[in-house]
Amino acid sequence: MRRYDRPFRWAGRGLIRYTGPLSFPVLHYGYDGWSAPQDLPMQRDDAGWVAAIPTAGRHVVDCVVRSARSQECDNNDGADYRLWIGLDPVDAHTHVRAPGGGTLGFDSLRTAAFSGGMTHALVSWTDNDLVEIVAEATPWLTPLVWVRPGGPDPADVRRRLAAGGAGLKLHPAYDGYPADTPGLDPYLRVAQEAGVPVTVHSAPGPADPDLIRRLAERFPAVRFVLYHTYLGPPEGRKRALRHAAALPNLYLETSWCRSAEAERLLDELGPDRVLFGSDAATDGPDHYVRRPPNIEMTENYNTGLLRLAQRLAPDVFRAFISGNARKLFSLPPAYPQRRRRLFRRPSL
Ligand SMILES: [Zn+2]
Repeated sequence: MRRYDRPFRWAGRGLIRYTGPLSFPVLHYGYDGWSAPQDLPMQRDDAGWVAAIPTAGRHVVDCVVRSARSQECDNNDGADYRLWIGLDPVDAHTHVRAPGGGTLGFDSLRTAAFSGGMTHALVSWTDNDLVEIVAEATPWLTPLVWVRPGGPDPADVRRRLAAGGAGLKLHPAYDGYPADTPGLDPYLRVAQEAGVPVTVHSAPGPADPDLIRRLAERFPAVRFVLYHTYLGPPEGRKRALRHAAALPNLYLETSWCRSAEAERLLDELGPDRVLFGSDAATDGPDHYVRRPPNIEMTENYNTGLLRLAQRLAPDVFRAFISGNARKLFSLPPAYPQRRRRLFRRPSL
């Protein structure tokens, strides 16, 4: 199948390849939030259309294409495309509830992920069959298996993990059970056997980090990811951080956290157990580029991530946006290792 691949990618150092629907595309691009925009006609190659651009000293290329022949344009439904220079970002927290657009629709997720320059994403929803079908048709999506006490059958979970599921997803608030319930134990034993992580919605009430900590203490060999770190007031985030500092099998994911908060978590917990995630596309196709901004009304994901890229040490940012999730969930690298080395040399 492979029908839903990214239309833009790096084909080599400073070389952008476009494989979308437009022919004779002219690349319209800018750097790090559309500074110094320029136009460049793309050339045909064996796999699509390519253009070589300088990348030295830049973090991202933002771009769209228009056709030189027809004036049609491909601007990712108005959200634009983003390519990270020398990085293969992973969104560790996304959902698909239906085909098509709208909140949590597959088209919305696709637009959102491409607008943020994500090269891979972990996806989950209560309907495991739908998520599996979508991930099967989408090379940059890897499914998590949604479980709750009493269902699905652990044998079914085992089968889904063997078929490519990268971990489990728990949502104690949505499904209405306390996060430390023994009803989860059969699933956690499956996760332990399979050696896969368990992601848990973390928020006030039944999904409180204090309860998630008890679960993590009961299964010290299972790695748990606190989705959102804590979707609530700062005191809960502090508790989540404290628990993660005490238990080496707890990881923090930063959806709906401002970049300053993500930076603080990385500072205090260290660079190895904090992961980027966005909860796309709960805000629809412009989830990453919302205006007015959707993260505490002060930032959107694209501005926050660029700010982190500019402030953090390169290795710390790389671990946060790509390496930690790839390692934890055993995701494939997006580029061959030898090509990664090319990226580290001074660019064109
Ligand atoms: Zn979510």
